[in-house]
Formats: sequence, C-alpha cells, structure tokens
Amino acid sequence: MNQLNLDHASAAVEFNKDEPRVDWHDETLWFVRTKRDRAAAQLPEWEQLREAASQIKNHVLSNMHDLLAQFEENAKQNGITVHWAENADEHNAIIHKLIQDAGVTRMVKSKSMLTEECHLNDYLTRHGIEVIDSDLGERIVQMRKEPPSHIVLPAIHLKKSDVGETFHEHLGTEKGATDPQYLTEAARQHLRDTFLTRKVALTGVNFAIAETGGFVVCTNEGNADMGAHLADVHIAAMGFEKIIPRAEHLGVFLRLLARSATGQPITTFSSHFHRPRPGQQMHIVIVDNGRSRQLGRPDFRNSLKCIRCAACLNTCPVYRRSGGHSYHSAIAGPIGSILAPNLDMKLNADLPFASTLCGSCSNVCPVKIDIHDQLYKWRQVLMKEGYGPGSKTAAMKAMATVLESPSLYRVAGKIGRGVLRFTPVLAENRFNPWYNQREMPEPPAESFRDWYINNKKV
Ligand code: SF4
Repeated sequence: MNQLNLDHASAAVEFNKDEPRVDWHDETLWFVRTKRDRAAAQLPEWEQLREAASQIKNHVLSNMHDLLAQFEENAKQNGITVHWAENADEHNAIIHKLIQDAGVTRMVKSKSMLTEECHLNDYLTRHGIEVIDSDLGERIVQMRKEPPSHIVLPAIHLKKSDVGETFHEHLGTEKGATDPQYLTEAARQHLRDTFLTRKVALTGVNFAIAETGGFVVCTNEGNADMGAHLADVHIAAMGFEKIIPRAEHLGVFLRLLARSATGQPITTFSSHFHRPRPGQQMHIVIVDNGRSRQLGRPDFRNSLKCIRCAACLNTCPVYRRSGGHSYHSAIAGPIGSILAPNLDMKLNADLPFASTLCGSCSNVCPVKIDIHDQLYKWRQVLMKEGYGPGSKTAAMKAMATVLESPSLYRVAGKIGRGVLRFTPVLAENRFNPWYNQREMPEPPAESFRDWYINNKKV
C-alpha cells in the first residue's frame, strides 16, 4: 500500500508490518545519532557554538528583509542573476524558463529539499524536461519513483538488496548483486555520463552570505560541484531563510551542520560559489512559499532557523519506528511536522501529533529550535481551528464535562473499573487503537478517594 496517501498513524501501521525492517531502520538511525553525540562531545565549545548559531539565526529572522536585499545587491554585482519566487508554482516556472532559454530538455540536479517541497521534478517531467538527481540516495529513490524518506539520507528506508534490485532493473547490474562497492561503481559510471552531457545543473543552497553575495553548498559526494562546474548554466534554489549575515558565521554553521548530520567533523565538500566562471550563467532563485507566513507566526517563526541537519529525525523515536514516508510531506520528522501545517493545515493536521513530545529533538538541535514545544503548540492551534479529528474533539469535550464534576467523575471511575474487570472486551477491541499495542492495566479494587476515606477512618 502507498504510505503517502495515508495519515501518519495509518502509514506507520503499514511500515510496522515489516518488523525486522523497522528494527533495522531504528537501529541504523540511532547509530547515526550516537555518532553525532561522539562528534559533539569532542568539541568542548559545542554548547557555545549552538548558542552562537541560535543568536545569529535570531538576528537573521529579525532582519530578513535587509539581509536579503544586501545579498541580492552583492550577488548581482558578482554577475549572478537573482530571481524571486513567491510560491512553488513561480519557483518551478522560473526554472523551467531558464532551461528553455538554454535550449535544452535535460538537467542534472543535486540535493535540494526545496525542490522536493515545490515538486519540481514532477512539474518539469510534465513539461517534457528530463531531470536526473545526482545525489546517490536521491537517484536511487528517483529510479523507484519514491520521494526521499530522510533529508540527509534519502534512501535510508532501503536495504542493499533493494538497491541491488533497483540497479539491476535500471542500470543493468547483475541480478542479486548487493556489494555496495559494485553498486556504487555502477551508479558512478551512470552519473558521470550524466554530468558530462548536461548543460544545465541545479543545486540547493545551504548558506547564502549577505555580505558577499555568494553561497555555499555542502555534499559528501561532490555531485553538486560536478554538475555546476561542467554546466553552462548553474541554477541554485534556496528558501529565503538560508541567508546568513557574514562569511565568518560559516565557521559556526559548518562545524555544527556536519557533526549534527552524520557525526563527521566536516562535510567532504563545502563548495563556495561567488560568481559564474567566464562564459557561464549563474542564477539564484530565492523562494518564499509560505516562509513569510511562518515568520509572522510568533510561536513558529523559530522553525525557520533550521539548517536541515536531520539530527531531530535521527533521535526521534516516532520517526525511527514509523519511517519517513509516513509523514507524507517533503520534510519528514519533527521539524517537518512543524513546517508542513504552515503550508497546508488541513492536509498536515495529523503531523504535530506524530510525536511523544519527549524533547529529544530540541536537545540535539544545533540551532536550539524549541521543536517539541512548537509541536505541542501546533496541536492546540489545529484543535482550535477545527482540524482535529471529530472523535477526538468529542472525547475531549466529554472528558472536560466529567472532570469538571466530582460526582460525575466518581460515577465514571466506578463504571471504568467495572468495565475493565467484568467486560474488558468493551475497551480492548479492534475499534480501540489505543489498546492494539498495549497491555490492559489491572483495575484497582477501589478509587483513591474511597481508599483514603476508608484508611482515614482507621
Ligand atoms: S530542526 Fe534542528 S535538528 Fe532538526 S533538522 Fe533542523 S537544525 Fe537539524
């Protein structure tokens, strides 16, 4: 069943049908989380770095307009063409026009969660443009016609054997091959050919620097560089929150990003783009797509500080055991569950509830976003706006009525204890999902109030 068409809870049930895969997914991501812990522990100044990053981002959120204007001016002086897109449609149309202007119908693209958010690949494919994703994980899921399930490790839901099958089908590798070196070599040959023959390359942007008008793209595979350096036209797409004030701030963010994402001291390629090389065109598309709205929500604006390291996904017990596709949104996990309702409250009303609110996400976040607090706040907003499930709203109203009345509370407690003792099937049945994964509690013989009164007499 396609998990993407289901709400989070139902999709998680689908994912959990394959228990060994769930265990393996859980353990693999926890392994990445522990690597992050070890890398962070090696820096005595880790907490100061987090605080500095958080403060820089606070400054960015409060001075967004000026910083973006400064960036635009400097980028233009460097010979970069700057485009502004209010929404996903504009973003897609601008990129389509740039490809058409280049007179080609094929493009190579490195990792960009913004283009996933805007559904760029689907849009371009519908308009007759072939897009090849060059990040290995993204290429694998693209061949399988799946979206990425993780923002840093797009194919983390797949095993070697899944990749082997996919490559056998699409790249003609040996049937049943699972050797990672063999499979990676096949992908390398396939992508090398792509890099050499594409005249337009698109990259994401990790950081755009207002004072220089340049931008930085981080990858571990060098695929963004290969695409951009070989192409006649380099298009970079960025959400406007990627701006930072000064180049010296990169020293804070690059150290935090790599360690938080994969536990590496530095990303293998942190490439700085300042201007097109002679004869090349360089374009940057700066996208809003709901970010202004989020910036205007005092409770949720901090989510725009995110540097997309995925540490909150790796540590989240719900993400690890429900899989990225169960979030039916471009960005999965705790931060995705804050960003998605801003884009469409109705469609994504289930996501802020996909959390235990344990706070582990906020603890690991390198820019100190209060993730679990925001998830809790979204729940309140969604219920108030009427986007909660009707059954939950009715149950909460009934519970409020019972809790407001001591006599009703006593009667309800008596009935509840009686049901659990004499007719447990009324609570433990397939229509009550709460009990599907839980054991029935032993009903107490009496309420605490009765116990207290009886013992007080003694
Ligand atoms: S919210 Fe924080 S931990 Fe999660 S991806 Fe963004 S920066 Fe990383």
